[in-house]
Amino acid sequence: MCGIVGATAQRNVYKILIEGLHRLEYRGYDSAGLSILDSDNVLQTRKTIGKVADLEAVCKGNFVSGNTGISHTRWATHGAPSSTNSHPHVSSGISIVHNGIIENHDVLREEMIAAGYEIQSDTDSEVIAHLIHQQLETCSDLREAVNKTIARLKGAYALGVMSDEYPGLIIGARSGSPLVVGVGMDEHFIASDQMALRQVTDRFVYLEEGDVVELSSEAYTVFGANGKAVKRELHQLSETDQIADKGQYRHFMQKEMFEQATVLADTFAGRIGTDHILEAVFGHQAESLFAQTKNIHIIACGTSFHSGLVAKYWLEDMAGVPCQVEVASEYRYRKVAVPDGTLFVTISQSGETADTLAALHKAKESGYLGFVAICNVANSSLVRESDISLMTMAGPEIGVASTKAFTTQLVALQLLTLSLGRHTGLPAGMEAKWPLDLKTKQNNKKKAVLTDASPWLLLVFQ
Ligand code: GLU
Repeated sequence: MCGIVGATAQRNVYKILIEGLHRLEYRGYDSAGLSILDSDNVLQTRKTIGKVADLEAVCKGNFVSGNTGISHTRWATHGAPSSTNSHPHVSSGISIVHNGIIENHDVLREEMIAAGYEIQSDTDSEVIAHLIHQQLETCSDLREAVNKTIARLKGAYALGVMSDEYPGLIIGARSGSPLVVGVGMDEHFIASDQMALRQVTDRFVYLEEGDVVELSSEAYTVFGANGKAVKRELHQLSETDQIADKGQYRHFMQKEMFEQATVLADTFAGRIGTDHILEAVFGHQAESLFAQTKNIHIIACGTSFHSGLVAKYWLEDMAGVPCQVEVASEYRYRKVAVPDGTLFVTISQSGETADTLAALHKAKESGYLGFVAICNVANSSLVRESDISLMTMAGPEIGVASTKAFTTQLVALQLLTLSLGRHTGLPAGMEAKWPLDLKTKQNNKKKAVLTDASPWLLLVFQ
């Protein structure tokens, strides 16, 4: 999923939010927005389809400043990319940003409509703002209203919440999607990725599953899943925590092998529930494409071609869909017969692999049902030119022999197999059989996946 940045300070937070969103652009997104409480205590919300630069242009034309704000980059899962569907979503003075997927949004939406709320967007997220507003009528404070609201949510979320009735306050919450707290001097932050805040602090608290955090410029308090205040370790990052540094490892490949625990957890994050893949993890257009899929052609090069070869077994065995895998440099130069209802899947680490891109261009003229990209670079040509995509969260891979890029591709391809399989006769109970519960893993990313989810990985490598 995409990005969240929030800040409460004794200075104007506009630049902090915008810089933070820029730093999250590598994740790919379709729209951006922010809410800031201005000096008259009025909630100012600006949002737009497009890039963070477009949001800046909107804000330039309609200036906004204040000491408390939340912001968001959206990767649409429910409802097409549009200004209305962009976050923040507002319910009379309450503003929320959400990363993830709310699975019971239909029921909640009906309930909110019955209670007299007017729903503006097609998203699964907007109901959260209305629920908090409704809860606030009977709650003693914003955090209690957020607690009562998240108790109603099924799915995955990282949340940032603010209200004009509680100036200077931000509530953050996480379950299934990442959220960190940045600790500054008389200013505090939340973000979906610490990268977003490296320009303002090097001190971070990593929230655990079910945690809720209350931030003001002076203080922050973390509350555990049981609602009681808890102490979470404060991590001071050093220069060597920069990505392009070998750190304690002998060479980059060794470092990247050890990073797999974290990046595999990142690739699952926000995409799985306790016993199933969340709906729409491939985006809002995916379900209608998957429902029509009768065949798959996977086209890739090198390492990505090899992950495609593994996926062929899963797609045929579990999803029951005939699958052909071919090296892009062969595919692009031959005449191809394309059966009806064939989905064209490309896999590429960079999203710029020349043969794979050329294959995609050729395929576009060949009568395919639709185009899916599995890729590590969100704004790459392959992603931009495909109908739907799923990002692997491998981060930069400097070692020439692929490690983490390959294993995260396998995770993405398993998500594809299971998501597609729902439409094509995945044996009942198959999803639930897979030990997908990430909750403990996300609590401690360092020992994540390779220990807690070893059965999952065994399945990956079988
Ligand atoms: N599911 C939400 C939406 O479609 C949030 C997507 C995100 O994480 O960016 O608006």
